[in-house]
Amino acid sequence: TVNRLSDRLHALDGQSYKAYKSLQGSHALANFMLHVDYVQGDPFAAPSRIRVEVSQAIAQLPAALYNVLSRRIALEDYLIRQFDQQIQTVGRTAGSGKSGLIEIVRPSQAILPRSAAHISEQRVELRLAVGLPAFGRRIAGRQAATLLCEHLPALVNQTLLYARLDAAALQAHCDCAEAADYLRHQLRDRHLVAFIANGAILPRRSGVDDRPLGQDAVPFQAPPSLQTSLHLPNGAIVTGMGIPQGVTLMVGGGYHGKSTLLRAIEAGVYNHIPGDGREQVVTEGMAMKVRAEDGRSVAGVNISPFINHLPQGRSTAQFSTPDASGSTSQAASIIEAIEVGATTLLIDEDTSATNFMIRDRRMQALIAKAQEPITPFVDKVRQLYTDYGVSTILVMGGSGDYFDVADTVIALDNYRPDDVTEQARAIAQSDQNIRRAEGGTTFGPIASRIVRPDSIDARKGKRPVNLKARATDEIRLGMHEIDLSAVEQLVESGQLKAIAAAMVYAQQYYFDGERSLAAALDRVMGDIQAHGLDCLSDRLSGEFVGFRALELAAALNRLRSLAIEEASSDH
Ligand code: ADP
Ligand code: MG
Repeated sequence: TVNRLSDRLHALDGQSYKAYKSLQGSHALANFMLHVDYVQGDPFAAPSRIRVEVSQAIAQLPAALYNVLSRRIALEDYLIRQFDQQIQTVGRTAGSGKSGLIEIVRPSQAILPRSAAHISEQRVELRLAVGLPAFGRRIAGRQAATLLCEHLPALVNQTLLYARLDAAALQAHCDCAEAADYLRHQLRDRHLVAFIANGAILPRRSGVDDRPLGQDAVPFQAPPSLQTSLHLPNGAIVTGMGIPQGVTLMVGGGYHGKSTLLRAIEAGVYNHIPGDGREQVVTEGMAMKVRAEDGRSVAGVNISPFINHLPQGRSTAQFSTPDASGSTSQAASIIEAIEVGATTLLIDEDTSATNFMIRDRRMQALIAKAQEPITPFVDKVRQLYTDYGVSTILVMGGSGDYFDVADTVIALDNYRPDDVTEQARAIAQSDQNIRRAEGGTTFGPIASRIVRPDSIDARKGKRPVNLKARATDEIRLGMHEIDLSAVEQLVESGQLKAIAAAMVYAQQYYFDGERSLAAALDRVMGDIQAHGLDCLSDRLSGEFVGFRALELAAALNRLRSLAIEEASSDH
């Protein structure tokens, strides 16, 4: 009971910090179980890891809020946000280092599966980090009792009991996620790759603040010819702009909102919280932003559809480099995304290599094709769709060469989209000085690569691999650092932590016979779907956040030691 833990903590007062280890295990408090999974070594070290578990007999969360996967993820998301907000209200006990700290993984604007919360018919569990209090390096027993026997129960009562929650807000949160998934599922049948509801708020407060821009934001309004209606789960309809499969070009003057629209589409692979402005902006789940990223490493990628006949006769059928150029990095990122199943590419001129995107008529006249290793994207983008069914949404305000290959052209004018497909087509057809297509008749092969297992082993001797993430930019995996700052659809640090664990977890599959990279990652994603994020690690983590196969592949492809078997098969 409460008193027993509280008595034990008081008894520990003044002892050496190590004596806290005796708390490891489970403790029954008034109306919940406290599980102490890991006790920190000293007050300045990484905090201790605990779980709180409340039975549904006490929590009383209605099954209708979690009996469908979309809703369960949203309910878990809501409880984490609620807990995070309430932490400030309980204050912090005195002491050195991390004394009195209570922490739960901090969510972004996206609703994502997170290992910090688990809801089932039987129970509700949250995973937290706490700083066990100390003065200097001596246990502060009274403060520890305040932390675990007062602050923690107060938080549990405020955030995990249905009677204490805002039922309407909770319902809206779950409905919102379910509606977004429902909309997203309609895209394919309607031959769309993305949908942006009328009234959506796309611009963000700043480059470092992902909340919606305030009163200056111009709400989204679809042009009549691209207006589409989709159904909501309750039978209502929602109207907005549908972006068709194929090649879509977004044009318009600088600063008129092109990149903002594309970024909203990038984010549309995730569901967003009520009030975000992008609740009903949905994009096909396998849409991948690709960009130039000079300096990245590339391992055995067949980039020959885009780049061939390099100086010094270097082959590009299995292209490897520790230091890619803008164009080779962008070519590699496109092939890598398609290798693991990307169905739509999202590309912005702002983050593209110019010589990868365009090669105009005058340049064709000056530099013969034989002297130019690069076949620009403009000559390949249609074949990607016709040969592989891969659509592209491209922001390109700087070149009209794409008019010839676009199915849909959307112009942004003062943040308002307009359908200018017919005008663009007329201009392309009336132009006498047309550039020559240089892309051949087919796209070319997308090879399925086989990983050399020894090249991805991050272990040092027998010790377990140390995993770290810095924001959404970098993974440290044992001795390796992986730069993910150019993988733009990662939105939470916990995704990087889970990806790091998944990279280690995936190793069993590479060692298990001749497995292609794509097949091994498929098995990892299948395991997560079947068993949850917990399967990625031996110890329970409260820090894992859901991610896509595309970002897992992107991390593996940026591992500098990655090596590919020479023999590769085409598919
Ligand atoms: P482009 O890519 O066309 O040059 P951006 O998308 O970068 O333009 O947008 C330029 C600026 O306009 C940004 O600061 C952005 O936040 C703002 N903005 C974009 N869309 C809207 C909108 N719908 N309402 C208000 N401001 C917007
Ligand atoms: Mg832009």
